[in-house]
Amino acid sequence: MSEDKIIRCITSDGAVVISAALTSDIVFKASRIHKTSPAATAALGRLLTACSIMGAQLKQKDASITLRVNGDNSELGAVIAVSDSSGNVRGYVQNPACHTEYYENGKINVGKAVGRTGVLNVMRDYGTGEPYIGMVPLVSGEIAEDITSYFASSEQIPTVCALGVLLEKESHEVLLSGGFLLQLLPGADNSTIEKIEKNIEELEPVTTMLAKGLSIKEICDLALDGFEVEVLDEMPIDYKCACSREKVERAFMTMSDEDIRASAEDLGFAQASCHFCNKVYRLTKDDLEDLIKRKHE
Ligand SMILES: [Zn+2]
Repeated sequence: MSEDKIIRCITSDGAVVISAALTSDIVFKASRIHKTSPAATAALGRLLTACSIMGAQLKQKDASITLRVNGDNSELGAVIAVSDSSGNVRGYVQNPACHTEYYENGKINVGKAVGRTGVLNVMRDYGTGEPYIGMVPLVSGEIAEDITSYFASSEQIPTVCALGVLLEKESHEVLLSGGFLLQLLPGADNSTIEKIEKNIEELEPVTTMLAKGLSIKEICDLALDGFEVEVLDEMPIDYKCACSREKVERAFMTMSDEDIRASAEDLGFAQASCHFCNKVYRLTKDDLEDLIKRKHE
């Protein structure tokens, strides 16, 4: 059973909101599915955590959000995460075997793997009409700073984002993962901003706090020290793929009859695998003929 969850809190004066997530099981699953190197695990884990938190902020039930990090000359290639409006996420990296470099303090150099320059794309799909697309240049490739910059420049919301993934030193297995997104609402005055800045300055890294046994609620309380805090909601989250045979069939049906038949030429059947969960879907020649028939109905 996954213990992963998101908690959302607001100060009683309505000036500050914070969402914090525990994503250890999600990132563990992602690392198993994609067989990621330490640098790839850390980059994907941070992006999955941010995406889950941002997904849970969507109000529309059928909405989803996609975060895509494209670093210049990146060894890791693109890093992609998708969340539904309940905070359930999935994701992948282009080159999961990417080389891992470390800072002197032993921390994984995520920015090196991701690329120090490049772009972060944010796409919100509300399930109806055109999706909303935002884009900002990367600040450092360390993900949290890039998310902060996105909110500041693209949405004019002063934001503090912290994300962390802790790996076992020898096995590189995911031990802990989590993060938070703190945002100032229009009612925030100078004294509020000063108090928040002081709290954030004194806050330890997320994985340090989690390793000490702090809950995500206690992390919210520390970030909002000196304020009266109300819990808005709390929800379980998981690594969840949205792929299905039906979706694969629909994708095939967008191709020409000729291309549909050609897709089975090499192997005697057509095959499509899901980027997010590696599930393989096979369609026999008979299945394909059936699709062609349905296409013309
Ligand atoms: Zn899938």
